[in-house]
Amino acid sequence: MTVLNEAPVSSSSAAARHTRLLILGSGPAGLAAALYAARAELAPVVLSGTELGGQVSLTYTIENYPGFPDGVGGAELGNLFQKQAERFGAQVEFDSAYRVDLSKRPFNLVTDNGEIQTDALIIATGASPILLNIPGEKELTGKGISYCATCDGWFFKDKKVVVVGGGDTALEEGLFLTRYASSVTVIHRRDSLRAGVVLQKRALEHPKMKFIWNTVATEIVGREKVEAVRTKNVQTGEESLLPIDGVFVFIGHTPNTKMFEGQIEMENAYIKVDNRMKTSVAGVFAAGEAADPHFRQVITSAGMGAAAAIEATHFLEHETA
Ligand code: NAP
Repeated sequence: MTVLNEAPVSSSSAAARHTRLLILGSGPAGLAAALYAARAELAPVVLSGTELGGQVSLTYTIENYPGFPDGVGGAELGNLFQKQAERFGAQVEFDSAYRVDLSKRPFNLVTDNGEIQTDALIIATGASPILLNIPGEKELTGKGISYCATCDGWFFKDKKVVVVGGGDTALEEGLFLTRYASSVTVIHRRDSLRAGVVLQKRALEHPKMKFIWNTVATEIVGREKVEAVRTKNVQTGEESLLPIDGVFVFIGHTPNTKMFEGQIEMENAYIKVDNRMKTSVAGVFAAGEAADPHFRQVITSAGMGAAAAIEATHFLEHETA
């Protein structure tokens, strides 16, 4: 989603069109919500955001989504989600909201294509992995660079991989990768890890895990696929070229929630929801990675989306009863 942090807008525009339920985001959470809401005959409108299909569509193959014993392409799964929601009447539009006013209902949103007023809103804007922003990263993403060990670890059976980061995610995912990879080398910019002590101990003692300290990745090298990573020791300035088959980047995620700052309760930029996906604003629900700092899986996001739609349906029924 395009997210800008701007002041709320007035919710009185005569030009705005009206929806009963608007869903922001077309990842698993948004499209599962759309499916459930469409089957409840709410004719939901989904604004896809700039990344149609969400993060899952960037993943080569998904092998842990039930129902696909041979795996399914991430983009293909996204298409199937969309097709199924549309079959029941959901309308998916390639559009992004960039300003929102949740202070009164109907909620008012300004999008790239106009203005929308909606009786209920499901926020499923997802999260984006923080990128290294170094040469080669963009070009080789999906060709040996990954941001998800659970999704892509299997492809590195008996291969040498690098993990960038020193937090819990880097070590947890790094340990997961030892199931497949012949070696997992953690490149960390300091000489001590941010991760918790239990994970640190397990990682430091693992025979397949190695550590390169005080070092940053400066370039990912390869033509068709990752071949090496160029590194620089931040203390000595010494540069090295490390031949490698894969690079996993775990330097944090950012939920795409900036647009809602100051209007809805959040914790560490994640939208706070109760166990019914309700946010601090009545009529606004959130699902998926925008509201989930813990699981970040396709299936958990889809489950949250379905729950949010069921609750939004109840909300709309009660309020018109
Ligand atoms: P994180 O705790 O923010 O750690 C990010 C790591 O990446 C840090 O080690 C940081 O280095 C490094 N880093 C950041 N920007 C970088 C850059 N540009 N270049 C190189 N390195 C960079 O993120 P996380 O590991 O994803 O964890 C997020 C939250 O989830 C944390 O609260 C964590 O405790 C929690 N979590 C918990 C578990 C668990 O308990 N099992 C598992 C996963 C996540 P510095 O250390 O130098 O800052």
